[in-house]
Amino acid sequence: MEVYTHDLIILGTGLAGLRAALEAAQQSVGDLNIALVSKLQLMRAHSVAAEGGTAAVMRQAEGDSYELHAWDTVKGSDFLADQNAVDFFVHEMPKEILRLDHWGIPWSRQEDGRIAQRPFGGHTFPRAVFAADKTGLLEMQTLYDTLMKHARRINRYDEGFVTSIVVENQRFVGLTMIDMLKGRLVFIRGKALILATGGAGQIFGFTTYSETVTGDGLAMAYRAGLPLKDMEFIQFHPTGLIPSGILMTEACRGEGGILLNNAGQRFMETYAPSKMELAPRDMVSRSEMIEIETGRGFPGPDELDYVHLDLRGLGREKILERLPLIREVTLTHIGLDPIEKPIPIRPVAHYTMGGVHTDLQGRTPIENIWAAGEVACVSLHGANRLGANSTAECLVWGRVTGAEAARYCQIAATAEMPKDTRQAWAPVEALLQSSGGEDHYQIRKELRHNLDLTMGVFRTNEKMTAGLKKIRELKERYKFISVMDKSLRYNTDLMRAIETGFMLEAAEVATLGALTRTESRGGHARRDFTARDDENWLKHTLAYRTEDGPRLEYCPVNISMWKPVERKY
Ligand SMILES: Cc1cc2nc3c(=O)[nH]c(=O)nc-3n(C[C@H](O)[C@H](O)[C@H](O)COP(=O)(O)OP(=O)(O)OC[C@H]3O[C@@H](n4cnc5c(N)ncnc54)[C@H](O)[C@@H]3O)c2cc1C
Repeated sequence: MEVYTHDLIILGTGLAGLRAALEAAQQSVGDLNIALVSKLQLMRAHSVAAEGGTAAVMRQAEGDSYELHAWDTVKGSDFLADQNAVDFFVHEMPKEILRLDHWGIPWSRQEDGRIAQRPFGGHTFPRAVFAADKTGLLEMQTLYDTLMKHARRINRYDEGFVTSIVVENQRFVGLTMIDMLKGRLVFIRGKALILATGGAGQIFGFTTYSETVTGDGLAMAYRAGLPLKDMEFIQFHPTGLIPSGILMTEACRGEGGILLNNAGQRFMETYAPSKMELAPRDMVSRSEMIEIETGRGFPGPDELDYVHLDLRGLGREKILERLPLIREVTLTHIGLDPIEKPIPIRPVAHYTMGGVHTDLQGRTPIENIWAAGEVACVSLHGANRLGANSTAECLVWGRVTGAEAARYCQIAATAEMPKDTRQAWAPVEALLQSSGGEDHYQIRKELRHNLDLTMGVFRTNEKMTAGLKKIRELKERYKFISVMDKSLRYNTDLMRAIETGFMLEAAEVATLGALTRTESRGGHARRDFTARDDENWLKHTLAYRTEDGPRLEYCPVNISMWKPVERKY
């Protein structure tokens, strides 16, 4: 085993990780030795897939305001967001947009040269700043280019697959990592860790997420003793392309696209007459499912019945200018030109609202671990995230955690190397020696199908009980898997097996949390408990790992600005 020592370790190179690295490098004026770790090549983080925009208040003179952005976010969250986090966020975001502008991002602009903004679901003002429909890619590229000015103090571990977070006496000590290219086991020591590993979308079969988003950081943090918060809240985006689930960005509706059932009716008139297609995602997804279930959808492959997203009203020029990627994707994947025909879509698993429990500064209950981006739950999104608030969250809490952790590292000492790292490596070694009869690819497939069936847009006690039972059976079977490739160099068989173990943990926490929460709120809609229940459930779920499965506790929601009211659009 090789040992490398750095000051600050940033695990994950998506928007949150890169923003954190840049802030830490700038704050410490080159003093700190920073490690940036990714299981992929740096620029292949999932964030490059973000399409439609990043929310910020940029037009106060024209009627937008911080209060309005905060209210939209809190109402969108079905009142589960922590209002102090929301307040902080809305004030920080415009500064992030201007910083990226100064660093050179090609934001889409209006004719008068000002940064353009487009409407997004649940926002009462056109608030999404964008770069065509390639917002995430261009944000990533701009952060990366700017970070390269500090390249001397940044140590990259691309294609370094981290298998565990090592904590001793309630302090972070280091990470165990497989250097995939060199085929070596590595221990990376550090004074502090920023966890920025993204969500867990792959626990679902029908999802917008890339194959790599497998909840690794969530599971590793949970195994290291950190609580996971509000994991039962999973967002279903209303417009996943049939049959792959590729995202048709909300910007399609922001630019004027409409939703139609099989009778050609704009069915959102029934469900959200004031906001129509730009109601929050949870509501639009439920509306689509009701249309499909009551026979007003179109029959699709593999039980993926669908409704139509119609962009024809936008006209050719607008589609080519504002949604070029969407057209490219539909042409390439299903041979359909949205200029001429409506797109087949249905709700698709899209975002993990829950995550590692943090305070307002992104600090976790372990003093020298911070978390930022989708892996974290500072509780900005509560029970339902508004579109364009996630890339924004990555920027805000990337900056905050980068600054906080950098300050910490400038005064803290590196923890002692653990006397014995065998325990940390034991699961990897066991897999390399495994010879059981279970196939981990099959377990992953069954897990994802199970979540599609039991943890979808509408949930019931019966389905979730069966779902949890199945997850626990799969966990048992997982103990008897075998990895066929016994080498360490670019062993994707081993990596997939470890990821599946992470996915099982995340799925179990999400399902138990959902089963226990006997109400409907935001993205958690139950057919057996259809109403929101503030008296009993206006609280965050915290899941702690025990040998017998997750132990659930609860903590209060910050309600510093608005008391919960009925959520109507
Ligand atoms: C298709 C799509 C479009 C979207 N569009 C928008 C949008 O327009 N606006 C918006 O606000 N939000 C959007 N979102 C959501 C948003 O893109 C994500 O929430 C956000 O980009 C997540 O960024 P992140 O930095 O937290 O994580 P990620 O970008 O997922 O990065 C995670 C990093 O962690 C690393 N990692 C993970 N596990 C390990 C491990 N075991 N070892 C080493 N490294 C590891 C990965 O390699 C990667 O570098 C979209 C989401 C999807 C799926």
